[in-house]
Amino acid sequence: GTAPRPPPRRSGRFAPVRVSEPPGRPVLTVVVPMFNEEAVLPLFVRRLRPVLDELPVPYEVLAVDDGSTDTTPVLLQRALREWPALRVVRLRANSGHQAAISAGLQRSRGDWVVTIDADLQDPPETIARMYAAAVSQDVDVVYGVRSDRTTDSAFKRHTAGAFYRLMRRLAKLDISQDAGDFRLMSRETVDAINALPEQGRVLRLVVPALGFPSTTVDYKREARAAGESKYPLRKMVGLTLDSVTGFSQAPLRFATWFSLLGFVVAALVLVYGVWSKLSGGTASGWASTVVILAVFSALQLLCLGILGEYVGRTYSALQQRPSYYVAYDSEHHGPRGGPDE
Ligand code: UDP
Ligand code: MG
Repeated sequence: GTAPRPPPRRSGRFAPVRVSEPPGRPVLTVVVPMFNEEAVLPLFVRRLRPVLDELPVPYEVLAVDDGSTDTTPVLLQRALREWPALRVVRLRANSGHQAAISAGLQRSRGDWVVTIDADLQDPPETIARMYAAAVSQDVDVVYGVRSDRTTDSAFKRHTAGAFYRLMRRLAKLDISQDAGDFRLMSRETVDAINALPEQGRVLRLVVPALGFPSTTVDYKREARAAGESKYPLRKMVGLTLDSVTGFSQAPLRFATWFSLLGFVVAALVLVYGVWSKLSGGTASGWASTVVILAVFSALQLLCLGILGEYVGRTYSALQQRPSYYVAYDSEHHGPRGGPDE
């Protein structure tokens, strides 16, 4: 690059450099998935750190860089030098929000783990209340519940509302309308999640399904502090399909019932066709043919699509490939960069 070279350090080329050693084994791990969050990252660090420093227990922050293509990795390297409690794990490719969180959960060491978005929509100050609630109420999970979502777009609120309604019905889970991925979990809960081999798991459903004792903490969802949403419609649809196929076989049943209905309709059409031919009537040809063909083709495609989603899920379950690969871990390699970089 064209950036000025930093002055050589005395520690030698290969020695990992730390400003100071991280404090003892953390009691709380904060997992932060990040994808192209350069715009918000410095703000986030500045707001999160004082909150965590105030906690009565040692902590670690696990920033999972989900294959960012902007300067997020550079900013994280800079933060590493100044914040001993920070650990950076970089995934080889953009593997998605849920995979990034999973990478963090698998590496977390705390007795408690909180997952939080990097865009400051989940206010870091809530973490202290979550931790206090967990300890005082003796529960395993503290869900952050968005008491006020007016800062989200109407589109986001409506699609999210429909998602939770659908999943409550299909998965028969007691999921709060407004619990996203901002939650605190005990070590036991995290170990239970880590033990699930499932691909494409959706944590906001998996965690309630595990059924650990839980409580909720309300918070006001803030507007994204900077940058843009990293959740385009395509990813929202993907999350919904993962949720449905992961928790319900109702769509397959639906396909079966639909085919029965189609069978009855086909039989009626057949009887009518033969009858009208025999009785010398002129069964009008083109319109009815086109309508019947279009309706039945659409139904067939729908049922095939449903089937395909489940086949795809079975396929990836059989492959058992990891849902992400780690390219770099500051725990093993220290902060990057030095005289030669
Ligand atoms: N994120 C990620 N990988 C992705 C998409 C998002 O790690 O492929 C992270 C993102 O950096 C943020 C969190 O997931 O910390 C939530 O994403 P975002 O705020 O863009 O979603 P929204 O709030 O718009 O639903
Ligand atoms: Mg957000």
